[in-house]
Amino acid sequence: DKILLEVQNLKKYFPVKGTKGPGVQAVENVSLFIRKGETLGLVGESGCGKTTLGRTILQLHEPTSGKIVYDGETIFEGADPWQKDAQGHATRVKVAKPKMVNMLPYRRKMQIIFQDPSASLDPRMTVGEIIGEALDIHKLYASKAERTDRIKELLGMVGLNTEHANRYPHEFSGGQQQRVGIARALAVKPEFIVCDEPISALDVSIQSQVVNMLEDMQNEMGLTYLFIAHDLSVVRHISSRIGVMYLGSLVELAESYELNKHPLHPYTKTLLSAVPVPDPEVSRQRQRIVLEGDIPSPMNPPTGCRFHTRCPYATKECSEAAPVFREVEPGHWAACHLLNK
Ligand code: SF4
Repeated sequence: DKILLEVQNLKKYFPVKGTKGPGVQAVENVSLFIRKGETLGLVGESGCGKTTLGRTILQLHEPTSGKIVYDGETIFEGADPWQKDAQGHATRVKVAKPKMVNMLPYRRKMQIIFQDPSASLDPRMTVGEIIGEALDIHKLYASKAERTDRIKELLGMVGLNTEHANRYPHEFSGGQQQRVGIARALAVKPEFIVCDEPISALDVSIQSQVVNMLEDMQNEMGLTYLFIAHDLSVVRHISSRIGVMYLGSLVELAESYELNKHPLHPYTKTLLSAVPVPDPEVSRQRQRIVLEGDIPSPMNPPTGCRFHTRCPYATKECSEAAPVFREVEPGHWAACHLLNK
């Protein structure tokens, strides 16, 4: 299938005031691609950089370095201004200005659905105004009547009534607010949507409704999703492939079934061990692995493999050299020295 989005060695560092170093190293050398029409799930604990990765792909944050190709067009390409020695100490070097494009046409094609709908909807605007604003930015109608019809149509698509157009976000439940967020994203007829933990803030009872709706929309409109979640159990049913992040790095990526059955990376194994399995046979084989210690700070990440301070299998090599993210088996990528033996 056609590749819609490709990311190569993407980095996003946030400078920290008063310090000379690279700052918060939120996304470290991430490479992945997403096929047209697929859902790529992205999981990892909070603070692992998955939201920053989603936003950097959309260039809501300017990438520090790497390459982003969307539908065959390079929309960002920049050399790495941070050179690291074997110990991981970074020095700033002079590099050419990154290549960037006018993002406006891509802002229409590439949308985002936020985690917290109440915070992402302007409380002073009615629902109709919120959706209408998205249509206005991209001038997606020929007449006022067409604009009104389109707002009504979008509300209907997400299961809301046309009368809801005159109401304000606070008059809605969390689930309804998220429907408004989805309608706003769909208003511009996007191709690719970053779903940034779209159900984590919602009541468990309505989470599956929203997921089902997103799946229906995908089928109807041929949408491609990057679906971010902190929990594997959310993404494994809806994703064709799943990527696992730890402290800014992508540590494993495989077909959803494959990742669940044959995880290769020690961190993925710990994540999976926390997911309840209905089959008692599988459950008995799968022991709960509990990691020691906290996630280190992305301001001062461990050298070598970023997971080495908590990995039960870490050796000296792991603290000295970062493992390469590579295709260990066809379609199954992972970054771990153990897999190179
Ligand atoms: Fe663990 Fe080493 Fe593999 Fe990192 S490279 S996951 S520390 S065994």
